[in-house]
Amino acid sequence: MKKKYGIAETILDLAFPPRCPICDHIIPFRAGDICGGCLKQIKPISGPVCMKCGKPLEEEDEYCFDCRTKKHLYKQGISVFKYRDIAPSVYRFKYEGRQEYAVFFGRCMAWKLERRIKQWGAEALVPVPVHPSRKRQRGYNQAELLAKEISVRTGVPVRCDIVARRKKTTPQKGLDDRQRQNNLKKAFKILKNDVKLSTIVIIDDIYTTGSTVDAMTATLRMAGIKNIYYAALAIGRGQ
Ligand SMILES: [Zn+2]
Ligand SMILES: [Zn+2]
Repeated sequence: MKKKYGIAETILDLAFPPRCPICDHIIPFRAGDICGGCLKQIKPISGPVCMKCGKPLEEEDEYCFDCRTKKHLYKQGISVFKYRDIAPSVYRFKYEGRQEYAVFFGRCMAWKLERRIKQWGAEALVPVPVHPSRKRQRGYNQAELLAKEISVRTGVPVRCDIVARRKKTTPQKGLDDRQRQNNLKKAFKILKNDVKLSTIVIIDDIYTTGSTVDAMTATLRMAGIKNIYYAALAIGRGQ
């Protein structure tokens, strides 16, 4: 998307040149949202995907191995990118303060979600909350930033007043499936009981085993929400 820039933006660009949110290289003359190299290389997920979790499938099938062996609580979900394609970028977005990436990533998610939001009849976007102490330390919740960007483009409101993190959980990294489940048990609490919503989309940055989405689904159901979907920026193993 080409925009017009004035003298103030030009000076700002010289001081803080815009960088590609995927590879972090400087984008010359604001040629685009991402650099030419990444535009060629990084493609959103296409082709056959699991009908439940949206994971790309090697061969045409209905469900991935995970979803054939484990029953998820949420109804259905989608992700935009394969995690391995954008892993360093997600890391900078999540842990290195690059919250400006939310604009580009949120737009990618809104693009992917547009048709689904209508199909699902989504009434609200609910970002996966982080514990207040973690948010203070990081300065932001990346899932919330993504949800806000999606909301601007789709008109679906963001609700951060329904669930919260109950306690500081240890990071999911390095835990097996069972440990993840236990770690997440009671990780979320309801802030509002009767929310008068029937269909929502959980928003997260990375989908791995689905245990976070399932744990949140269980909590949201207690708040009376029946149809719970998810959308993530990236899907894949390990984070
Ligand atoms: Zn790039
Ligand atoms: Zn699946």
